[in-house]
Amino acid sequence: MTKSLKRGAALLLALLLCLSACAAPAPQQAEGLRVACTTYPVFLFCQTVCAGTDVEPELVVDQPLSCLHNYTLTMSDMKVIENASLLALNGAGMEEFLEDVLEDRSCLDCSEGLELLWNEEEGEPDCHTWMDPANAAVMVNNLAAGLSEADPDDADTFRANAEAAARRLEALGTALREELAPLPCRSLITFHDGFSYFARGVGMEIAASVEEEEGSEASARRIRELVALIDEKQIPAVFTEVNGPDATAKALAMERPVRVGTLSMLMSSEGVPADLQGLDAYEWALRQNARAITEAYT
Ligand SMILES: [Zn+2]
Repeated sequence: MTKSLKRGAALLLALLLCLSACAAPAPQQAEGLRVACTTYPVFLFCQTVCAGTDVEPELVVDQPLSCLHNYTLTMSDMKVIENASLLALNGAGMEEFLEDVLEDRSCLDCSEGLELLWNEEEGEPDCHTWMDPANAAVMVNNLAAGLSEADPDDADTFRANAEAAARRLEALGTALREELAPLPCRSLITFHDGFSYFARGVGMEIAASVEEEEGSEASARRIRELVALIDEKQIPAVFTEVNGPDATAKALAMERPVRVGTLSMLMSSEGVPADLQGLDAYEWALRQNARAITEAYT
């Protein structure tokens, strides 16, 4: 090696050493399990399952959206994914928007074993699984199983937390069904088609969802159909979503004396009281939905 080449190599090495020394400090718990959750509900379930351990789940997407379809990841979302050793997914097709990013990553699919509803129009499973507390119980157990594999030392805690959570979710489902049981109208008109599991969980049905295409308001023809449906089933209210548009609901309210209520799909922490975490936040949001329906229907 010539003198100048040697000098060049030494300089390069010095540069590399400096670069690694100057790089951002290693994240905390660099050696432990670092789990990132793609959606807010999975994050809440994961918080509850990880309680009492050193595992602190992170949330990938926390934007004020009505739903995640066609979402584009931001740089900071990507950083959360890059930093994770395990990605907890909602599954059932919800993560289509980050399919490329998931390749070669260690993933935990919370939808395993769920009885999925089928979305006829889209020709794919309905991915809004978390909206039924019975599904949430399955998701919590899936999380406990996957986390235990990745972090066997905490397996007993994960399992105990999941068992307690499943019992609580069962009680929540019962409470919601009891609250809504006296309502004479059993049909809901929502904007987004993300409430079928919720309706199933609380013993109601979705008569129609307004949205024909992602985020689009109804056409004049669709409004006529919805008005006919309101008359036929004597539906006293229509529902928009947190962060969803409301022009169609308002148009329907001009045609018929229907109230306009708001339901949450719990797509982000927006609107959820800041002191609520884990299942407390999930239960709060579902109880808010039941209250919104009760108020609009009585
Ligand atoms: Zn959706």
